[in-house]
Amino acid sequence: MAGAPLARDIVTAGSVVLREPADEVPDSMLGTQELRDLVQSMIDTMRAAPGVGLAAPQIGVPLQIIVLEDKPEYLAAVAPELAEQQQRMPFEALVVINPRLRTLSDAGARFYEGCLSVPGYQALVERYISVEVEGLTVEGLPVRLQANGWQARILQHECDHLAGVLYVDRMLSRSFAARGAAGRLPQGVPAPGACRCCHPIDRAG
Ligand SMILES: [Zn+2]
Repeated sequence: MAGAPLARDIVTAGSVVLREPADEVPDSMLGTQELRDLVQSMIDTMRAAPGVGLAAPQIGVPLQIIVLEDKPEYLAAVAPELAEQQQRMPFEALVVINPRLRTLSDAGARFYEGCLSVPGYQALVERYISVEVEGLTVEGLPVRLQANGWQARILQHECDHLAGVLYVDRMLSRSFAARGAAGRLPQGVPAPGACRCCHPIDRAG
């Protein structure tokens, strides 16, 4: 079925699967066609949305699997100075099974962030700018990834999903805005940019 679209419906906020910790992918599932098909359907769903990341609970599957990808054409829609501030660069599709995330420093950044499971909105969220993720490939081989900037933000957002956490739990709530409507920031909301980040990382599992 190469090339057949496998995109699935995205589960939205209010569904309990987005609020419960996801289970580890069992050893018996690693390297199976079932897991390959599941991961491919996650990638197809992410691309169809389109989005830069997806966690398995977002298609209703309570397993610790994340996919992420940032394409040059997505970046073309972002002002170059903002992309530079965000340390955002394109990268090819990545898959991590049973990811474990740790921060590499307490340096953070505050930027608008959205979620395919909370469609139509965005808010400022503080994230660590440098993280490391360890996990497994679809075939069960160890994988380790160090990430900075926007890629680090995506990894934190997707790993949060595996712990039942949504960005609205971390957002600066007074910055919450309909997508496209964010104009001048309300009083009391700090401007986007560098910050110190100190919220705990919710490790999956
Ligand atoms: Zn999300």
